[in-house]
Amino acid sequence: MAENVKKKVNKTKKSSSPKNNNSKSPKKKSSSSKKVTSKGTTKTKKKTGTNKNVSSKNKGKTTQTKTSSKTVKKKNTAKKSVPKKENINIETTIEEIKKEKNPLRMIIIILSALGIISTSSLAYFNQSKVEVNLKKENVLEINEKYALSSFVESVVNCEQINKNKKVSFDSLGENKITLSFKDKNKNNITKEAKVKVVDTNPPEIKFKDKITVTEGDKVDLLKGVIVTDNSKEKIEAKIDGKYNIKKAGTYKLKYVAKDSSGNSKEVDFTLVVEPKKVEIKPPKNEDKSWTTSKGYSAVTKNGITYINGVLVVNKTYSLPDSYNPGLNSTVKNKVDELFAAAKEAGFDSMSIGSGFRSYKTQKSLYNSYVKRDGQTKADTYSARPGHSEHQTGLAVDICHKGYSCITSAFDGTPPAIWLNDNAYKYGFIIRYPQGKSNETGYKYESWHLRYVGEDLATKLYNDGNWITLESYFGITSQYK
Ligand SMILES: [Zn+2]
Repeated sequence: MAENVKKKVNKTKKSSSPKNNNSKSPKKKSSSSKKVTSKGTTKTKKKTGTNKNVSSKNKGKTTQTKTSSKTVKKKNTAKKSVPKKENINIETTIEEIKKEKNPLRMIIIILSALGIISTSSLAYFNQSKVEVNLKKENVLEINEKYALSSFVESVVNCEQINKNKKVSFDSLGENKITLSFKDKNKNNITKEAKVKVVDTNPPEIKFKDKITVTEGDKVDLLKGVIVTDNSKEKIEAKIDGKYNIKKAGTYKLKYVAKDSSGNSKEVDFTLVVEPKKVEIKPPKNEDKSWTTSKGYSAVTKNGITYINGVLVVNKTYSLPDSYNPGLNSTVKNKVDELFAAAKEAGFDSMSIGSGFRSYKTQKSLYNSYVKRDGQTKADTYSARPGHSEHQTGLAVDICHKGYSCITSAFDGTPPAIWLNDNAYKYGFIIRYPQGKSNETGYKYESWHLRYVGEDLATKLYNDGNWITLESYFGITSQYK
C-alpha cells in the first residue's frame, strides 16, 4: 500500500515539483491525500498531452503548499464540475484569469488551480510523513547508562537528537524521559517515554576472607566490610553463622548483604579465634602451714604441699618447676601388682600410657592443647605446668591393648570398670571420678590413677562411690 502511494506521488511530483512542505499533522493528511492523489493522478495522466507547455513552463518553480483537508474537499467539488482544468499551474491560471471575461469561468479556473496545488502538496506531505515509534516497555536497571537511542523503536523522516547520549536513572519505580527529534525541516519534535527503573543487582561486598582475633577480644566483624550497591537503597549487612569469640577455633561464616529490593549477596569468610597467649610462669607457693576446712593439718614447704602427710597437687596446689623425682619406685611395684591381678581377671595387656612427666614436658604438652583448643577448654582436661599430678611421680595413666588409650572412649570399657573396682586394693584411687569435676577441677578420667596408699584409697573408694581428695581433705582445686 505504502509503495503504491509513493509511486503515485512521484508521478504527481514530476508535474508540480514542490520543494517545501510543512508537516503539522501527517496522519490526517495521509488519509485524505490518498484519495485525492489517486484521483488527481489518473486525471493528470489523461491530460499530460494537452498541458505540455504549461507543465514545462512551471518546472522548478516553488508553489505554495500549505493546505488543509477543507481545501481538498473544495477542490474535489471543483474537479467534478471542471474535470479538464486540473493540470493548470498558478502562472498559467493567472494568465487565463486575466484573459477571461466570464466571471463564472474565472472562478472555476481559480478553484481548479487550487485543487491542483493541494493535490501536489498533499502528495508531498505523504512522502515526508514523520513517524516516531517509542519502545512500549522500558525496564531499566537503576544507575546504569542507556543511550537515548535505546528508547526508540523506529523513526520515519526524522532523526533523534543526541541519540548516542547516555542517561541513567537514580530512583526506583516509574520515571519519564523526554526525547527530542528533528524532521527534515529542522522542526523539533519531543516525545515522552515512560521507564520503569528496577534494581536487580545484588550489593557488592568487599571484605577480608579471613579474620584472626584472639580469644576473648572484642571484635566487630562488620567493621572494615564495605558493601556497595548500584542503588541508593538501604543495605542491610549481617553475619550469618555461629561463632564464639571467647572460644578458640576456626569458624566458617558468611557476610550477607541485602538491599531493599530484596537482592542479596552472600560471601564466605573464615573467623579464626586464636587462643589467648598464656604466659606460663612456674607457680610459687609461699611456705605455710594451716588446717583445712575438714580439720586436716596442711603444710607447704619448698613449694610442695602435704595435707595430713599426703602430697597434693591440683589447680590450687602446685609443684615448683625444679621438682623432678621421676616415677616413684613404690608406685612402680604397685602397678606391677595391679597388672598381675588384672591379668588373672583376664586383662592381660595393661600398660602405663603415661607415668612421670616433668615440668618441662607438661609445659609443652599443655601449650599444644591450648594452641589446639584454647585455654578455657584445655584447662578442663590438661594441667598447667606445675599443676600436673604426673609431676609428683605418683600418678599413672593406664591403657589396655585393644582399647582407646587416655581418652574418654576408655570410660566404661571392661578394663576401665575393672580398674574402678580393684585399683584401690593396690593403693590407687580414681583421681578424677565421674561427676566430681566441680571438686577436682577436671573431667572424668577413668584411666588416671593416683597412688595414695591402700588405707586412704579404700576410704576414698567408698564402695564404688568415689570420694575426691578435695572433698575428703576439705580443699579447693582452682587456679588463682
Ligand atoms: Zn593422667
